[in-house]
Amino acid sequence: MQRRNFLTLVGTILAAAPVWANVYNSRVISPKAGELAFPELPYPYDALEPYIDARTMELHYDKHHRGYFNNFKAAVKDTPLADQDIETIFSKVSAHSSAVRNNGGGYYNHKLFWENMGPAKTSPSAKLARAIDRGFGSFDKFKETFSGAARSHFGSGWAWLVAGAGGKLFVSSTPNQDNPLMDVAAQKGTPLLALDVWEHAYYLHYQNRRAEYVDNFWNIVNWDVVSKRFELV
Ligand code: MN
Repeated sequence: MQRRNFLTLVGTILAAAPVWANVYNSRVISPKAGELAFPELPYPYDALEPYIDARTMELHYDKHHRGYFNNFKAAVKDTPLADQDIETIFSKVSAHSSAVRNNGGGYYNHKLFWENMGPAKTSPSAKLARAIDRGFGSFDKFKETFSGAARSHFGSGWAWLVAGAGGKLFVSSTPNQDNPLMDVAAQKGTPLLALDVWEHAYYLHYQNRRAEYVDNFWNIVNWDVVSKRFELV
């Protein structure tokens, strides 16, 4: 079978797999860091057009994400960290090298980010919708809080919807490739929704218009995945 046909077949199988398969892979199995494989993109490069263009997606996944992954694997190779799952590594990341922190975060954050987007129109589960109303007053207020965090984060980083203690939801942002699972995070919890606000995530299509990129993100959030993550908290 030609490589292209094989990749199409893999993509078809992944698209047909239940949504929880991705969530399960990322949050429950938690393989040892030394055994991690580079994750498949859950959809073709052009699936999120026109909101995220195919060229940006290809570079972002195949160059940036793959680079973080390869560098993380190299950083843990032949060290005790190779036998730990990545959540455990993040929980003590201040004790590890910047290569582990930056590349481990880069690997993990992008995996979450790809999974919490998709071309299909979805909406939060009833349980997640109730938690959003409790945490922010309304869905629109949540969106404005999250968009504000994403727009105003200075420099490279991420915006997050996070489940904290008791499942209480909050919005935060982190610098560089940090995330809310890391001991260095100002506000810690389980990430439910991630948005990459590094310029490499939007500059080809949006140039300096980060706000437009953030507004368009709401068209491609995969609420099925976000709702499943909340179920697992
Ligand atoms: Mn990125």
